[in-house]
Amino acid sequence: MIRVGINGYGTIGKRVAAAVRAQPDMEVVGVAKTRPNHEAATAVAEGFDLYAAIEERRPRFAEAGIKVAGGVEDLVAASEIVVDACPSGVGAENAAMYREHDTPALLQGGEDAEVVDGSFVARANYDAVAGADLVRVVSCNTTGLARLIAPLREAYGIEKLRATLVRRGGDPAQSSRGPINDILPDPVAIPSHHGPDVNTIYPDLDIDTLGLKVPATLMHTHSINVTLESSPEADAVRDLLAAESRLFVIPKWLGLDGAGAIRELAGDAGRPRADVWENCIWGESITVEDRDLYLFQAVHQESDVVPENVDAVRAVLDTASGPESVRRTNRAIGLDGDLG
Ligand code: NAD
Repeated sequence: MIRVGINGYGTIGKRVAAAVRAQPDMEVVGVAKTRPNHEAATAVAEGFDLYAAIEERRPRFAEAGIKVAGGVEDLVAASEIVVDACPSGVGAENAAMYREHDTPALLQGGEDAEVVDGSFVARANYDAVAGADLVRVVSCNTTGLARLIAPLREAYGIEKLRATLVRRGGDPAQSSRGPINDILPDPVAIPSHHGPDVNTIYPDLDIDTLGLKVPATLMHTHSINVTLESSPEADAVRDLLAAESRLFVIPKWLGLDGAGAIRELAGDAGRPRADVWENCIWGESITVEDRDLYLFQAVHQESDVVPENVDAVRAVLDTASGPESVRRTNRAIGLDGDLG
């Protein structure tokens, strides 16, 4: 069993902890929290050992009646690998601690690419991170783009990709985020950082991205235009994408008109937290004009990176091939590619 520690138990950390625990070849050593809030209560309810991320704040847990198994350094020392799901920038600060303990760690998409030895998306570059000390599981948007790019590149070649990313203003629990009533070019300058971030996975890809932020919390939506190197039929592209386990090509008859309906279906299907681990691509939107492919996809920002973190554990420790890891991860969490 691979002993995995989780440092940072928020939106991403709690989901990764649950997904790691579901794997037959992994166990969660414990989770580190900075303070005894509702997420600490969830960790206790889930039966995870809790570690204090900040030593001076340890008494606060006792005051809240929460037993602490140790400090974060104890967690790192007891783990074979750590998933760092701390807020952006904190992962980079933690890097020295992981290196001191000689414990490999997975940072998240909020960290700069320069901090790590490599960036990761299972479908794109699984084999590139074996034996690395610090790996970054890229952001939700970059993950969503790379998963789409992989089969298109292999089947048709990509001359140029342009994507407009309509991004949710914040996650549902982020009451301080916005906009509340506006549509913001974000960033105003073009390209947005997402294109260069995709280049950390596909260095030679010609890609331009534009970003917007809107008053929504459920998912991001991407408007995609790819100039391919050949001109396939739209149906062939649809079949190609539908065959990918982490791409869900939405059939028209489901009547999923947006993120709300997608998340509703995920909840009805019994997905934990109504999570949607797959990219959701509207089948009807897949259109090919000469060599230009167009489509819309929605990406659930809180959960698409979760199976990627699980695969990155195996990739770094080199315990399974990419396809085998993806199969295992999918099976263990119930990722079936059709939200059924
Ligand atoms: P979050 O704020 O929901 O969770 C972070 C957790 O870490 C919180 O519980 C916080 O209390 C805790 N924390 C703060 N400082 C800490 C420390 N020093 N040690 C341990 N824990 C600490 O954040 P999140 O949304 O889960 O994001 C985590 C990372 O994942 C970021 O890099 C982010 O960019 C990336 N990411 C977020 C999303 C998303 O949509 N939420 C999607 C993909 C990637």
